[in-house]
Amino acid sequence: MAEKKNQRGRNGYHLLKIVIIGGGSIGLASALVCKRVGHSVTVFDPAGFESKRAAIEMDSRVWALGPQSQSLLEDLGAWNPNDRICAYQSMRVIDARSDARVTFTDPTLGHMVEADWVRNQLLREVSGIDIQCIQRSVQAITPYGLITVDDDTMIEADLVIFAEGRAATTAVASGFEIVDGGYHQRAVIGTLHSQRPHYGEAFQIFTEHGPLALLPLPDCRGQHRVSLVWSLGKPIADDLQENPNKILASLITQNSEFERGHLRFVGDPVWIPLSQQSLRQDALGCLLAIGDTSHGILPLAGLGANLGFADVLALRATLERYPKAGGDRIARSVARERCVDQRTVALVMGLFSDVFRSDQPLIQLGRSLALRTANRYPMIRSLIQEMAG
Ligand SMILES: Cc1cc2nc3c(=O)[nH]c(=O)nc-3n(C[C@H](O)[C@H](O)[C@H](O)COP(=O)(O)OP(=O)(O)OC[C@H]3O[C@@H](n4cnc5c(N)ncnc54)[C@H](O)[C@@H]3O)c2cc1C
Repeated sequence: MAEKKNQRGRNGYHLLKIVIIGGGSIGLASALVCKRVGHSVTVFDPAGFESKRAAIEMDSRVWALGPQSQSLLEDLGAWNPNDRICAYQSMRVIDARSDARVTFTDPTLGHMVEADWVRNQLLREVSGIDIQCIQRSVQAITPYGLITVDDDTMIEADLVIFAEGRAATTAVASGFEIVDGGYHQRAVIGTLHSQRPHYGEAFQIFTEHGPLALLPLPDCRGQHRVSLVWSLGKPIADDLQENPNKILASLITQNSEFERGHLRFVGDPVWIPLSQQSLRQDALGCLLAIGDTSHGILPLAGLGANLGFADVLALRATLERYPKAGGDRIARSVARERCVDQRTVALVMGLFSDVFRSDQPLIQLGRSLALRTANRYPMIRSLIQEMAG
């Protein structure tokens, strides 16, 4: 295949035609990063590019974003402080079946934000510049960047970025291979009224059924709010899902050991399937997979979107470092730079899940020792903190 001729742009950059599959937060952040360098950018998303209007109550899909993700969003003009963002300064993790605990305190630990809010901010920035957003799907793409759109039209790109979430439909149709990382579970998420305030603390307890997190949200109409993520094995999830909201909330109150007092759902809880997955390789010719398409992990430490934004940072750094590179070199470099972080996080999340679910006395002892050690040594704590974004 003949090498594609790129136009030359400002600062000697070779201007590339970049196509992004998926207009979620990671795809849109990538679009902005590529456009800033001067490349031509097109985003495909069959679900469209409409902003979602916020309800009075916080949505159940909220993210704990670390300082690195925040700083990227600030650079992109997509972080505008408002009263729906909740800073948290401490995180406490305890084990229900031992006295083990670990506490992190840092004034810049992170912020809880609604996932839709982040996407809305990015959509606003994207609509303000010359990025083509197309509400269609793509059938498949060759490793050389020849794209077949769903109406059978063909277009060419120098670099294609897959950020279409876990389903990775187009990526698979284009030759990527999904590796099932196991841990098939279900999570119940939702916004809860809490009797007690959270004082900016993210709380997580490893219950016998799975990790239960109560994450801080802004008060609503003078009442306290927390966001729930309880990851459960399938059989127990099937049982619990049968319960009316009131009974489920009371079980959550008990399993969280009344840390936030009595809890009540302010809307219906949402049940979502969980698992870990990755792609066998993240780069294929000039095709690059990032975000959840490349790595789907358990939401144990709220890492998924943070990892995706770290992919976007690696993309930006690569575009700046190799201004004359073609799409295949960029895809290869980003994939290489990110693969250790992604694999480490997936491995650690899996280990956490195994170790905290086990009832074996030796593993229980190990769990207690691990948390105690993490609590005693600031270096270990900051390592875990860094992993959380
Ligand atoms: C319970 C739970 C809690 C979580 N909490 C946190 C947290 O606290 N912190 C954190 O950092 N992360 C968290 N995550 C992870 C986070 O939600 C994901 O990592 C994040 O949504 C990934 O963004 P994405 O843009 O890669 O994918 P998505 O958000 O899934 O977006 C994919 C986009 O691609 C589009 N699309 C789909 N199919 C196609 C197609 N065929 N062609 C084109 N476009 C397509 C979709 O319409 C969508 O717009 C959590 C996840 C769960 C399940």
